[in-house]
Amino acid sequence: MGVQGFSTGGRIVIRKSLETPAKAAVILHELSHELLHRGEDRKTISKRQRELEAEATAYVVMRRFGIEHVASNYLATYNVDGEQLRESLETISNAAKRLIAVIEGDQQNTEAAETVASPGG
Ligand SMILES: [Zn+2]
Repeated sequence: MGVQGFSTGGRIVIRKSLETPAKAAVILHELSHELLHRGEDRKTISKRQRELEAEATAYVVMRRFGIEHVASNYLATYNVDGEQLRESLETISNAAKRLIAVIEGDQQNTEAAETVASPGG
């Protein structure tokens, strides 16, 4: 997500000066990358599609908790179209469910997301 934050295989770096909602959005965006785009997927999915999936997942999770998010502006900068969004809908939906489960402490649905939820892991 440009200069606001980035993730590198298990480590997420966020710009300190961001306001709290923006920070939450960047963390969720980068967590989505960690969940969805580790390893081989980084090479097979286009940058645009990866950003779409990460940002849309962050958007869904933010909305779930009633936090305003400006994903539409961000997605526009990558020229994301409806077809690309349709292609990734299931991926976005599954990732959002996993992140929401982690945030809400839902044990049954957190297994897949354990690696991002465990402190220091
Ligand atoms: Zn990104």
